[in-house]
Amino acid sequence: MYLCAEIMEKLKCLIIGAGPAGYTAAIYAARAGMKPLMYTGPQPGGQLMITNDVENYPGYPDGRMGPEMMDDFKKQAARFGVEMRQQLITQVDFTGPVHKVWSESGEEIEAYTVIIATGANAKWLGIPGEQRLWNQGVSACAVCDGFFFRKQTVAIVGGGDTAAEESTYLAKICNTVHLLVRRDEMRASRIMQERVQSTPNIVIHWDTEAEEVLGNDGVTGVRVVNNKTGERSVLDVTGFFVAIGHEPSTKIFKDWLTLDESGYIVVSEPGRTFTNRPGVFAGGDAQDKIYRQAITAAGTGCMAALDAERYLVQAGL
Ligand code: NAP
Repeated sequence: MYLCAEIMEKLKCLIIGAGPAGYTAAIYAARAGMKPLMYTGPQPGGQLMITNDVENYPGYPDGRMGPEMMDDFKKQAARFGVEMRQQLITQVDFTGPVHKVWSESGEEIEAYTVIIATGANAKWLGIPGEQRLWNQGVSACAVCDGFFFRKQTVAIVGGGDTAAEESTYLAKICNTVHLLVRRDEMRASRIMQERVQSTPNIVIHWDTEAEEVLGNDGVTGVRVVNNKTGERSVLDVTGFFVAIGHEPSTKIFKDWLTLDESGYIVVSEPGRTFTNRPGVFAGGDAQDKIYRQAITAAGTGCMAALDAERYLVQAGL
């Protein structure tokens, strides 16, 4: 191993990001004696901070509000002495073997291992009603929120694998699912498209865009337009799902880490957290475009901490 004596004073573990992946990595790293330092960003908690009821996270039999759950994660990390700084990391240098990162206030931190848990954000359409009714009928996660619309009629926007997967998921719970596809074909893989098209309660609206989500304190409909004919109509729905992709928060790593075409960090092999840089690990939605659940983010955060610990042991640190 190429680590040398003069750099022995550095941090063992630095964690960037404070969603389920970051906090879980911090809890594991702290309990393993790695004394992790966490940079949480200005608004710790990630996507769960804008989520109301979380009903599918095991261990919370009555569900939990997203922000409260993140507060629980934070308290648990604090209990093991994790130091947290509510600042953004704006620059990194992963030349190694000691990695350097810089915070927005100019602090320079050096660490043998870095765990990236910066997450991702759903893309939005930017149409009237969408943000106003967010969490009141508008959602970007069918697996998280579909249950609230059981036996109801919903609409979902998108033509990729996520929209295909989420519309078939919703079709099992809801009476009718209106799938709004802006072109006359879907981008999703053939098998997923076939699944959508053979599901009787999914109604596909080709060449159709959502113009406005309607409702005051809950969704009552969506105004749509056929972009070929110009014909406008209103679909009576109580749920409106947006599935047009996510944007991982990985821009500052692009010169150092292998990212895929959508910006997700590429891990060495599925089910691992190694990046292409020794000592740099990735967990959570920054490296997961398929599952994107709080529980899977926590799982990969745990894995990243275990991988970082083994790396330190192998390096004799
Ligand atoms: P995506 O592949 O980028 O597809 C986004 C879809 O949203 C496209 O159909 C796009 O339409 C549409 N769209 C974008 N902006 C829109 C707008 N303003 N209005 C209406 N429609 C809009 O995103 P994704 O489906 O989230 O998938 C991301 C990646 O994850 C893909 O590589 C996918 O294969 C992968 N994934 C895999 C699985 C799985 O293997 N089980 C599950 C989910 C996702 P256009 O086609 O017209 O651009």
